Amino acid sequence: MKLFKCQACQQSVYFENRVCTACGHTLGYLPLPGEMMALQPRDGHFTAITPKKTAYRFCENITPDACNWLIPLESQEKFCLACRHNRTIPDLAMGENLERWRKMEVAKHRLFYTLIALRLPLPNLADDSEHGLAFDFLADNPSGGPKILTGHDDGLITINLIEADDAEREKLRTAMGEPYRTLLGHFRHEVGHFFWDVLVRDAGKLEACREVFGDDRADYGEALKQHYANGAPADWQKSFISAYATAHPWEDFAETFAHYLHIIDTLETASTFGLRIHPATKNRALHADIDFDPHNATSANVLLDSWLPLTFAVNSLNRSMGLGDLYPFIVSPPVVQKLEFIHGIIHAGSVKKPKSKKPGLFGRIMKAAPEQPPAPPPSQPVPVPPPQTPPEDPVPVELPPDHPGEFPPPPPNQPPEPLRV
Ligand SMILES: [Zn+2]
Ligand SMILES: [Zn+2]
Ligand SMILES: [Zn+2]
Repeated sequence: MKLFKCQACQQSVYFENRVCTACGHTLGYLPLPGEMMALQPRDGHFTAITPKKTAYRFCENITPDACNWLIPLESQEKFCLACRHNRTIPDLAMGENLERWRKMEVAKHRLFYTLIALRLPLPNLADDSEHGLAFDFLADNPSGGPKILTGHDDGLITINLIEADDAEREKLRTAMGEPYRTLLGHFRHEVGHFFWDVLVRDAGKLEACREVFGDDRADYGEALKQHYANGAPADWQKSFISAYATAHPWEDFAETFAHYLHIIDTLETASTFGLRIHPATKNRALHADIDFDPHNATSANVLLDSWLPLTFAVNSLNRSMGLGDLYPFIVSPPVVQKLEFIHGIIHAGSVKKPKSKKPGLFGRIMKAAPEQPPAPPPSQPVPVPPPQTPPEDPVPVELPPDHPGEFPPPPPNQPPEPLRV
C-alpha cells in the first residue's frame, strides 16, 4: 500500500485515518483514483481542499465507524465501492459484534484497495444478482446450532465474525497447525475462489489452469475429507505454498492467489518507503532496490526478485524482536510457476486503462460497479436479526468448508464433518 499524506499539511497518515492528527482536517479515502482527501464541511457534505470545489459525502458505514471511504456527492449510492458488496452485517447491538465487524472492515477495505489497483472486475449484487461479489458477516448463535463456516460460494463470501477475536483466531491457528492466520489472509484467500470463477472458469482458462494446479474435477468433498484425515504429504513444501493448498486444486489456487496479493501489497509498501536491501554479502539474490509499482510488474518473477530479499530482511528483523517470521513461507519453483499463472490471468483479466482520458482511469471498473445502478441495490448492508431467527440459512450449503478455518480438524479415527454442510 502506498503512503498517504494529508493534502492540507503534508503529514503522513494511515489508510484508516479519519482525521489528520497534525492539522485536524477531516480525511476521507477516494478509491478512484486512490487518494486520501483532506476535507472541509460544507452544507451537510464535504468539499476537498484540492481539487477545490469537488464535493463528497462519506459512505454510510462511517456512522458505525467502519469506513472512511468517500462517494461523489452527486452519486445515488449510499455505500462506497467496498461496502456496497456487503450483503449481511451482524446485529451491531449484540455483544462484541460491532468491534469485530470493524476489524473485518479494516481488512476488507485493504483487500479492495489492492483489487481496485489491479483493475480487477468487481461486480456487486446490483450488477450481477447471481454471481456478483458479496459478503455475509455472520456470528455464531451463542445458544448453539451449526457453526458459521467461512467460505465462498458463487461470489458470496461468508466470514465468521469470531475470526476477528485475536485469541480465538490464534487458538484456531494453533489447532490447525498454520504458521499464519489473519483476517486479511482470509479475505485474500476467499476472493481467490471468486476470481477462479471469473478469470479461469469463465475466461476459457480451465485447461491452462489444470496444467499448473491439477485437475479441479477431483471430488472436492472427498479431497477435503482426505486432507483432514491424513494431513498434507510430508514433502508438500516442494510444490505448495501451504499445507492446506494440497487439499484440492481449488484450494491451491486460492492459497496462491492470496500470496500473490500479499506480495503485491507488501512490495508496494516497501516501495513507498524507498526500501533498499543491501546486506553485506556478494550473493546478489539477497539484494534488491524496491523502487517500482508492483501492480504493473511484467511477471511474477520480477516481483519475486525483490520479494525474496525483502522477506529475508523482514523475517530477520522480526526475529530480532523475538517475533515469528513476517512471511513464514517458502516459495519453491513450482509455486513460482503458479504465481506466474495467477499474474498472467490477473493482467489478462484486468480492466484496461482507457486510451481516452474521458472515462477516467478506472472507467470500466466503475461500469462494473456503477455509481448509479438502475435498480435499488440489494447489496446494502442490513442488520442480521437475532441469531435464533436468522433470515436465511446462515451456513453455506452449496460447498463444503472452504478454508481450514471453518472447523478444527476432526478427532483421529472419526470421519470429518459432513461434507455438504
Ligand atoms: Zn493535516
Ligand atoms: Zn464504505
Ligand atoms: Zn478455500
